[in-house]
Amino acid sequence: MGNNGFGDSFADCEKTVSIGKKSRAQVEKARQGVYQRDGGVCISRALYGVCDDSVTIQHRVGRGMGGSALFDADPGFLLTMCGRHNMLETANADYHALCQQFGWSVPRWVPDRWAISEVPVFYWDGWHYLVGFDRIKTSDKVANSRMKEIYGNQYEQHDKY
Ligand SMILES: [Zn+2]
Repeated sequence: MGNNGFGDSFADCEKTVSIGKKSRAQVEKARQGVYQRDGGVCISRALYGVCDDSVTIQHRVGRGMGGSALFDADPGFLLTMCGRHNMLETANADYHALCQQFGWSVPRWVPDRWAISEVPVFYWDGWHYLVGFDRIKTSDKVANSRMKEIYGNQYEQHDKY
């Protein structure tokens, strides 16, 4: 009986550790899935300047903006991007605006109202996709009307490059 308190807190501690491990495994699984889905190629390839040789993960909803760890474990929130474009996304206002227009960068309020898999992503092959573990190709018409639904009239339909 005297030992109950200790036993309980020990059990809680183990539970915390196992949840931590599980979420790290889920994040790793999501990242591997994203590299496979996107062909390990920068999402921005041939659309905005040149890429460098690295490939990294672009978080569509920026961390440090209240982005939850759950976002890191959901491939719908992740894209592959080269290091140069990943850096430009936060450093260059024009490129950041383009990222938002193409669905590569998503303001923090969007996932409170929409499933991330409903926010279209424009890819280097000239098509819009809805992304999760898989990509589902969608028409320009559907993608543009969805973006207008999300962003309102401030959204300007982009020209294909
Ligand atoms: Zn790039």
